[in-house]
Amino acid sequence: MRVDGRAQLTFCSNDYLGLANHPDIAAALQAGVARWGVGAGAAHLVNGHFEPHAELEVALAEWLQAERALLFSTGYMANLAAVGGLVGRGDTVIADKLNHASLVDAAQLSGAKLLRYRHVDVDDARRQLARATGTKMILTDGVFSMDGDVAPLGQLMALAEEFDAWLVIDDAHGFGVWGEAGRGSLAELGLMVNGIPDYVLQVGTLGKAFGTAGAFIAGAMQPIEVLLQRARSYLFTTAQPPALAVATLASLNLVRAADERRAAWRARVAQFQKSLPDTFTLMPSPTPIQPLLIGESVDALAAAQHLERAGLWVPAIRPPTVPVGSARLRVTFSALHTQGQVEQLLTELENLQTVGREGRYKQLGSIG
Ligand SMILES: *Cc1c(COP(=O)(O)O)cnc(C)c1O
Repeated sequence: MRVDGRAQLTFCSNDYLGLANHPDIAAALQAGVARWGVGAGAAHLVNGHFEPHAELEVALAEWLQAERALLFSTGYMANLAAVGGLVGRGDTVIADKLNHASLVDAAQLSGAKLLRYRHVDVDDARRQLARATGTKMILTDGVFSMDGDVAPLGQLMALAEEFDAWLVIDDAHGFGVWGEAGRGSLAELGLMVNGIPDYVLQVGTLGKAFGTAGAFIAGAMQPIEVLLQRARSYLFTTAQPPALAVATLASLNLVRAADERRAAWRARVAQFQKSLPDTFTLMPSPTPIQPLLIGESVDALAAAQHLERAGLWVPAIRPPTVPVGSARLRVTFSALHTQGQVEQLLTELENLQTVGREGRYKQLGSIG
């Protein structure tokens, strides 16, 4: 990217497969605009629902072996719907403490009681479920957006079945990225063998690996029908442009066949993990999200500024996005990064250490 006229090599995008600028998707969007114009003009349930929306919903459901998929204008709004459409006052949401902010907001807006369990701690989730009342819902990211680690989805599925709870999985960073044909975290963990159980809803966003925009919820017919009738973030907002659905259909075809791109990001992550100086604390993550734990916000900022001066854009992620004391450099990899570009990042991270007194980036804050 060019920032204020200066070239910056980015390690911060969620465009994991490098599809956001793919010519087939751009051409599909242009063809969609030529055929359908730009605005949808109204909400889906008024007259904003066009053929490409319906086609995309069918294609997404078929891809995920789900009975039904429902399109949304953004992932934030899909999460508001998935939670608020199925639980309310008197009910209980049991949520991972490190869930994405949109899931936290969704739970709070729903009016249900919110009980949070320690990050990926299934025993703690069970304790919270035991004291839940009304309709119960377990709510989790599939891949955690700031840590890059993966939820224990098999165990959470078993808990949901045992406690007769919904399980809502926000797999914004899993779909397209991994699993057979890019089917996401459930597929990656081998949990999609017989389709998806009726009590599981999956939320996917289309602005990350898909390289377009919008979101969907996939699941059984009955809960999806309830969302379509009741979810306020579906009912009371303008449908996404139909041309965008045309573009996402093109993207879905590419995503399904993108095994080479999925192998490419894995190769870059492996290269990074293998060659990173061991003075760095790399948070354990099998995904393209590879956070370097720094600690204090000032230090993380100083490190990010050093990298920026070297032409590398790696964002410092600080509280309140992450817990206090766990500020980090959130490095993300794309299928389009080359081996040489990853080497460049590794070199600058090494330089970063020598810049700090005693060779530690921790001291960078005082150097500014
Ligand atoms: C990005 C993201 C969202 C929001 O999706 P948008 O389509 O950008 O609104 C929701 N959940 C998670 C985990 C995300 O990373």
